[in-house]
Amino acid sequence: MRQLSTIAETRAACAAARTATKRIGFVPTMGALHAGHLSLVKTARKQSDVVVASIFVNPTQFAPGEDFARYPRTLERDGALLEAEGVDLLFTPGVEEMYPAGAATFVTVEGLSERGEGRARPGHLRGVATIVSKLFNIVQPQLGFFGQKDAAQLAVIRKMVRDLDLPIEIVGCPIMREADGLAMSSRNAYLSHDERKRATVLYRSLCRVQEVYGSGERAASKLIAAAAQIFALEPEVRLDYVEVVDPDTLQPAERVERPALVAVAAKVGTTRLIDNIVLPGTP
Ligand code: AMP
Repeated sequence: MRQLSTIAETRAACAAARTATKRIGFVPTMGALHAGHLSLVKTARKQSDVVVASIFVNPTQFAPGEDFARYPRTLERDGALLEAEGVDLLFTPGVEEMYPAGAATFVTVEGLSERGEGRARPGHLRGVATIVSKLFNIVQPQLGFFGQKDAAQLAVIRKMVRDLDLPIEIVGCPIMREADGLAMSSRNAYLSHDERKRATVLYRSLCRVQEVYGSGERAASKLIAAAAQIFALEPEVRLDYVEVVDPDTLQPAERVERPALVAVAAKVGTTRLIDNIVLPGTP
């Protein structure tokens, strides 16, 4: 595996690797890798000829006061994990490389960027769309791999690719979970022993929604109330939102008659966690 930290070298290496018959698959990450990230790499390995990954903790997707400074950085370990998965090229730029002084251009997917996680974290999805477009322009992959875990991010990137006619196929990958259902996340490392136990409430609330939906309930308000009831049993976890929305537009759904995203965000101690499921929306 080659590891490069400049845009020029990475662009040149990707250009040399890309031929008429060779497809580049790209997996952008912020590092502190876990099995969720590695599942994206495994899928990329199966579907592409050349696998490029990036590790960059992107400052523009963190709001002031969020955890940018203390976000876990485990570059050496991450590099070894990616190499073992057969990644061909790892791009690890510094902040100045990606955002030289005076950088002033941002990508905003209007509407979508202010919904879901974008509403809860103003500026977050603009930061995501901006860094992903920059990385796409550097790597110029044919395939991009993203986790369903960050459902609003996936919706924004799919829309950006359509709206800007980027010749990239976006592949959504399922959420990897710990044995007790907690969605894998780099931020799980922040949790104390007790918080780690409580954190399963996000998944438990989604399982309850699935159950209530399975018994025939289709009203979004009832499904949301079912999730909220599970949170009420865990008063030390602060529910931020539970929402039932269209997976593409992130607009609230009143009834689940088409596929619907049930997304939840909550604070466990000082750690903000998210999770979601998609309901099929069959009558
Ligand atoms: P991050 O490093 O948090 O920016 O995540 C990099 C990529 O990994 C994103 O596409 C995430 O959606 C994806 N990802 C993060 N956690 C998981 C998970 N538990 N299962 C599957 N994909 C994930």
